Amino acid sequence: MFHGTRPGWIEVISGVMLASKTEERIRRVRRAVIARRKVQVFKSHLDARYAGLSHVATHGGLTVEAEPVDSAEQVARGVRPDTEVVAVDEVQFLDDGIVEVADALANRGVRVVLAGTDVDFRGLPFGALPTLMCIAEVVDKLHAICVVCGGPATRNQRLIDGAPAPWNSPTIMVGGRESYEARCRHCHRVPRPDADQTALL
Ligand code: ZN
Repeated sequence: MFHGTRPGWIEVISGVMLASKTEERIRRVRRAVIARRKVQVFKSHLDARYAGLSHVATHGGLTVEAEPVDSAEQVARGVRPDTEVVAVDEVQFLDDGIVEVADALANRGVRVVLAGTDVDFRGLPFGALPTLMCIAEVVDKLHAICVVCGGPATRNQRLIDGAPAPWNSPTIMVGGRESYEARCRHCHRVPRPDADQTALL
């Protein structure tokens, strides 16, 4: 683990879906709890709607309640003055304000652990994650296993009714008809129906 000479830094756990980002985040929080640090966990409400979980169980019986949030401002307002470790799950769904919030928390001595999906279904940088990866002291990019070839997966393959979703489908889909697979660069498919866009490839 990173140890600064003074408390306060940012760690990012990035990667595709199914890359065990949350497990890694839980592992770090569990260690902090065992070390008797005051910990708070936040989670994008957008994700909570699907997962239906407000408690995140950790191995060994230690649980830290994940507080659902819709915005970076809610994270800023929700952090108690004596909190030493702040963890946020699904950070890609939060607004860009999370960059300033994470920076301010780290500057005042808080260890900030941010977990999120770094690329959208097209394979492009997702939300504030890329900026957070730049300002963080520590970045871990985790991989899943490509379901097609077994290689390291770095892309989220969105499927709609079993077929690859087109380039122009929305970055964040709300409705639940889609599903996702972890895939590598070479097996990732994003059809571009627009001929002009295809020319850019
Ligand atoms: Zn593959």
